[in-house]
Amino acid sequence: MAGPLTGLPLPAATKFQLTTKSPETGGYLCSNCSGRVGTQLKRCGFDGMIIEGKGSDWTYITVKEGEVAFEDASSLKGKKTGETLETLYDAVGSNKGGALTVGPAAERLVRISYVCVDRRAFGRGGAGAVLGSKKLKGLAVFGTGIIPVADPRKVDEIRTGAFKNLRESRGNHTKYGTAQYIQPINELGCMPTRNFQTTYFEGIGKIDHIAIFDNYKIGNSACDRCPVACGTLAEVKEGPYKGAKARTEFENIGLLGPNCGIDDFGAIVAANQLCDELGLDTMSGANMVALAMELFERGLITKKDTLGIECRFGNGKALLDMLTLIAERRGIGDLLAEGMKGVESAKPEWKPYLVHVKGMSPAAYDPRGFYGNALTYGTSVRGACHNVGGWTIRAELQSGRYDRFALEGKGSLVHTIQDNRAYVDSLGICTVVRGSMEFSDNPKGETMEAATGYPFTRQLLEIGSRIYSMERMILNREGLARKGDMLPDRFLKEAVPSGPIAGQVLTEEMYNRLLDEYYDSRGWDRNGVVTEGTRERLGLKELTA
Ligand code: SF4
Repeated sequence: MAGPLTGLPLPAATKFQLTTKSPETGGYLCSNCSGRVGTQLKRCGFDGMIIEGKGSDWTYITVKEGEVAFEDASSLKGKKTGETLETLYDAVGSNKGGALTVGPAAERLVRISYVCVDRRAFGRGGAGAVLGSKKLKGLAVFGTGIIPVADPRKVDEIRTGAFKNLRESRGNHTKYGTAQYIQPINELGCMPTRNFQTTYFEGIGKIDHIAIFDNYKIGNSACDRCPVACGTLAEVKEGPYKGAKARTEFENIGLLGPNCGIDDFGAIVAANQLCDELGLDTMSGANMVALAMELFERGLITKKDTLGIECRFGNGKALLDMLTLIAERRGIGDLLAEGMKGVESAKPEWKPYLVHVKGMSPAAYDPRGFYGNALTYGTSVRGACHNVGGWTIRAELQSGRYDRFALEGKGSLVHTIQDNRAYVDSLGICTVVRGSMEFSDNPKGETMEAATGYPFTRQLLEIGSRIYSMERMILNREGLARKGDMLPDRFLKEAVPSGPIAGQVLTEEMYNRLLDEYYDSRGWDRNGVVTEGTRERLGLKELTA
């Protein structure tokens, strides 16, 4: 589904949304991505697309100037994502078209496989396996229609101001990308290290933004019409991974690096590239390998399970080999391909080492280092996610306005950040550029009015709140409530053993206080169920009926 701003001549207005049932969690999944598919759908006259049923043979779909066709994709089976994208652009006759595809991991129904979109991704939740189950190898879209706007002159004026604002305000993003957070997050003792066993990584100087900028950066990667270009294109120039190239980001670096005990940036780039080609979510893939490394070091799995791989923390080659094992479902890789939930159900005795919420493993932050992040992971509708769950880093670690270890006030903070993110994601713009168009927690709505002709100013946050409660109602319908919001044992039962926050604990009792405040703030009951009063206030009553 595209948003009302998707495809308009505004900075980074290329986002669109995928919604499905998640193979990784078994629950609700929404995913937000850049790329050209959303824009091209609108140029074809569509706001979105619903794909039902499944093919008897491998198929891809083309949408050209609004005409939909189903094509034989048998020759694409087994192909990596990059190769398939080129074929899909050819199929609609333009490399300006939009395309999405899945890699070999999704063909094998790996539950942590992703959907590659014009070299960006619907990364989390295993949406790739949904396409795999439909035998749908990809989709290509191209249209030349004009996307109407209510006030073109005003939109033009807003665009000029926003581009200027972003060039002046986002210099660090352009120069260093999101890797700029690697070092501060580590210094604050919040960096997941060796399967979240501790929160400070001693080898950070070899993989932080300065090391990347000085030794690996070969250019920027930008989503369409984005002056920020926050993607850092990195290339390995020497050593065993020479020639490897990937777009690196904070989360991938944190999880493929410190969380696997790896300080060789060459191995991180090569692993990132491998995940992209095989169509594996880099974050969940890295966390599954980190789990395997801990199990191996504890003697709970052996080389017999890993087919000879010395699966230890810090072993870059093992990281790459284990990712391949998962994508190919070989050896222990077949079990790991089932995701955290699948492993837990097959091996309940491994629970102390399984780090996930609702089946999704976390992003590259340890919540024992800032408690709003604990709520983020716990209450995100799709699992332990830092995006839709609410990115509290700026508020808790940078603004100076919050004590990161305080419990009070975190419920309303997370609630507000989540609602902000929900409305911004539904617009079709990138969260990084939102401020340049006054989409803050006190939104002006001028851009929406110029685009659509309707006054939106005071409604945006309410729309965000409605989205979040509606998604929660889907979870409630599926039987998920407070119990499903609990954090894994590692966060609630283990004190941080070393580093800047050594000894720090977040007990179950403390976490329950956070949850209570959050539910109260949302107007849900103490079991995490959306109440009748809240449904009525948000205009959701009829949905329940
Ligand atoms: S800020 Fe980064 S993620 Fe957002 S649109 Fe620009 S390049 Fe893409």
